[in-house]
Amino acid sequence: MEKIDVTDSSYSHTSSATWFTCGKESQQNSLVLDTEEKPARRRLVLVPVPAQGHLSLMMQLAETLHLKGFSITVAQTKFNYFSPSDDFTDFQFVTITESLPESAFKNLKPIMFLLKLNKECQVSFKLLLQQDISCVIYNEYMYFVEAAAKEFNLPNVIFSTTNATAFVYRSVFKKLYANNILAPLKDSKGQQDELVPGFHPLRYKDLPTSIFSSLENILQLYKNTVDKRTASSVIINTASCLESSSLSWLQQQLEIPVFPIGPLHMVASDPTSLLEENRNCIEWLNKKKQNSVIFVSLGSLALLEVNEVMETASGLDSSNQHFLWVIRPGSVRGSEWIEHLPEEFSKMVSSRGYIVKWAPQKEVLAHPAVGGFWSHCGWNSTLESIGEGVPMICKPFSTDQKVNARYLECVWRIGIQVEGELDRGAVERAVKRLMVGEEGEEMRKRAICLKERLRASVRDGSSSHNSLDEFIHLMRTL
Ligand code: UDP
Repeated sequence: MEKIDVTDSSYSHTSSATWFTCGKESQQNSLVLDTEEKPARRRLVLVPVPAQGHLSLMMQLAETLHLKGFSITVAQTKFNYFSPSDDFTDFQFVTITESLPESAFKNLKPIMFLLKLNKECQVSFKLLLQQDISCVIYNEYMYFVEAAAKEFNLPNVIFSTTNATAFVYRSVFKKLYANNILAPLKDSKGQQDELVPGFHPLRYKDLPTSIFSSLENILQLYKNTVDKRTASSVIINTASCLESSSLSWLQQQLEIPVFPIGPLHMVASDPTSLLEENRNCIEWLNKKKQNSVIFVSLGSLALLEVNEVMETASGLDSSNQHFLWVIRPGSVRGSEWIEHLPEEFSKMVSSRGYIVKWAPQKEVLAHPAVGGFWSHCGWNSTLESIGEGVPMICKPFSTDQKVNARYLECVWRIGIQVEGELDRGAVERAVKRLMVGEEGEEMRKRAICLKERLRASVRDGSSSHNSLDEFIHLMRTL
């Protein structure tokens, strides 16, 4: 066995209920401002969703805006609390108090958790807004922020950390529901495989629903996330080369500026990992041939049944490919980690696998040995993979991941979707299709072309770069 690494330590979590300034504001401001604009160092309050992918993005945005001359306050809840490191000494961190139990994040499913969190945070967030604040930027799923901003007459901006196409589908969800177009979703033997009329290439089963929540709850959440209310603009972590028609649609429907400023991971660093990254896997990758390893990682929230882990392990083993597999603590139902899995598990992963609790994902994807990515298709993972030209095997679990997977397969044509229940044969076939033979090679070529286009969009003078400049200009003139 090339080793299961058990040296990863678990993450730490602290919370506080008061203002917490991490360090002094920098007195230096190297930015030369347009004299017609108001002075910089205006304070922005940023409100992330308490989950790894959303948090990382908000901190990347914070870093980008700070470099452009703004003061930053980050308002977090106790859930997945990010304890600021020395990288953020210039930022102020505050905690939004609420009375949900500590177990709520784990026990409530994401949709219910977000609905409750929004209700809980409304009042205490207002108490935080008594400083000299220029604008509040909130994750689309933290929509409670708007009411407080409105009450204090503060400009507010929505930050969409999912993609523009998922935003579009969330926007039309109510209409689809009202017209009974979502009815097939309730019928498991129904038209799940058919295309939704007018929404090519999505099939009913690709719509951003979740098996963990009722359509009614999803509808309620989506209605809130897409309602612009008094927002002055929407910023989205995407690029027009990936989703220009969805962006145009949003621009037209929302009637406020929509700024595609992504991918932000290409313009800012990300020292916000809530779990400790195991860097030994990079040493392991260093010994592997180019494009010979498949990276398996299902993000920060997905949960697998024991039999799904076993089927995946068996399929990976039979594929005869090397694999680096992230199994997050708590991601296998009923188990702390992998210690209670049947004995066969270690036999199946021992000859070609390397298992870690958490990896430096962006670095892994950038490694020349990595030739494919088995992913749940979270938007961050999708952008990180495209950004490194790595084709994907898509196994989405819920909501926008299903839209991303469909786009990866049918629009960008750099992904193979594994559908239905996970079984070893399907895993083996998908891995071989991607890692061995012509089909995978063609996908890799397309992925490299898309990578170049995506990277170009954040360069000086290109679409995302220009969008970010325009947004910053707007922030200074609010
Ligand atoms: N990630 C990581 N190491 C891992 C697994 C995931 O750093 O071992 C990061 C990954 O790079 C991405 C985020 O966690 O930025 C996951 O976000 P995504 O939107 O893909 O999925 P979510 O966790 O929201 O389902």
